[in-house]
Amino acid sequence: MTESFTPPPAAGCRDTPVLKERGQREVFCGLTGIIWLHRKMQDAFFLVVGSRTCAHLLQSAAGVMIFAEPRFGTAILEEGDLAGLADAQEELEREVERLLDRRPDIRQLFLVGSCPSEVIKLDLSRAAERLTQRHAPRVRVLNYSGSGIETTFTEGEDACLASMVPVLPETDRRQLMLVGALPDVVEDQALDLLEKLGVGPVTVLPAARASDQVAVGPNTVVALTQPFLGETLSALERRGARHLAAPFPFGEEGTTAWLRAVAQEFGVSEERLEEVTAAPRARARRAVAQAAETLNRRSLFFFPDSQLEIPLARFLTRECGMEAVEVGAPYINKQVVAPDLDLLAEGPVISEGQDVDLQLDRCRAARPDLTVCGLGLANPLEAEGLTTKWAIELVFTPVHFYEQAGDLAGLFSRPIRRHDLLKLEAA
Ligand code: SF4
Repeated sequence: MTESFTPPPAAGCRDTPVLKERGQREVFCGLTGIIWLHRKMQDAFFLVVGSRTCAHLLQSAAGVMIFAEPRFGTAILEEGDLAGLADAQEELEREVERLLDRRPDIRQLFLVGSCPSEVIKLDLSRAAERLTQRHAPRVRVLNYSGSGIETTFTEGEDACLASMVPVLPETDRRQLMLVGALPDVVEDQALDLLEKLGVGPVTVLPAARASDQVAVGPNTVVALTQPFLGETLSALERRGARHLAAPFPFGEEGTTAWLRAVAQEFGVSEERLEEVTAAPRARARRAVAQAAETLNRRSLFFFPDSQLEIPLARFLTRECGMEAVEVGAPYINKQVVAPDLDLLAEGPVISEGQDVDLQLDRCRAARPDLTVCGLGLANPLEAEGLTTKWAIELVFTPVHFYEQAGDLAGLFSRPIRRHDLLKLEAA
């Protein structure tokens, strides 16, 4: 049998009252998602309609990556543009025309909205519609918002994928749809496991290219690979697709539970699941066990950031022996994370949203062994002697499925080991 080696808790966190906070928050905006989305969608261009701040954010988030042909850019709106709003709208469309003339390789163009009031007043959906009419079928122009007012950093991906759903072709085909932008190597591993299980056909959103046939309909079963895709899921459900609830494929246990949910849905036997997963599961357990030596019995505090917090808390407590003090998430979509909450043993505070000062007080009082938080909080907390992990690394590093389980645990054990070593040296 492929039972989990840790039994489920007597009481999980599904019904734990959630501490809801609506105060100041310290999180990147949804534009950040462009950095991993543009790598995944190879013929897409992301045109941010924004301010100089947005341009700086993108450039610094992209780091020193150099592209022969960049696939994201910023159309900067100056303050004065507000006066001539109609002109700004036309100028934006002219700018897109110039871009598309210059770059015939672009097949999907996303107009990405941002915070400045000048941008909010522009009608990006009308621009996208008009541009699509002019350029279809060669180019599909869509729009979504990456504004920091509306989105935290992983919600940018959700907004982007949700914008694609209404234009997906219709199909009646019985199929599994994996939803979430995974690094290619990880996606290939997932597809390989599914093929060995005999599950198919499998389609992936987002696809690498606009021409890859991704269709949706009433016989589509959706398995999310990222927990921050609630809007995309709702959009797919509106197209008739059905959600397959499962823990997320982080760690050995999460991956096995995710695969089991798919296997059961597609009539694959438990024996076949065992046969296909036995070897990678053993590898994953061995790899996690190494990092778990450092993580065992260490306390853990999650500030809300990536929406990966609940599945990761499940992984770190159950597979690595950590003790969660607080698990904060920007939003908690129970439909999506309930299976992970069921496996997370009662005990930690589950919080949603943020009032950063209050949460900092709770963190300082608890003095956890590891605090997972955004860049803005990490440095001050380190200066106070706390050990931190930057949440943003979790979306830039391959962390899903069996072969990455050890790396995932290592992301959390390294800062603790470094802290222990520094303490030893100082002693
Ligand atoms: Fe800043 Fe808003 Fe632009 Fe994000 S969208 S970089 S929060 S101005």
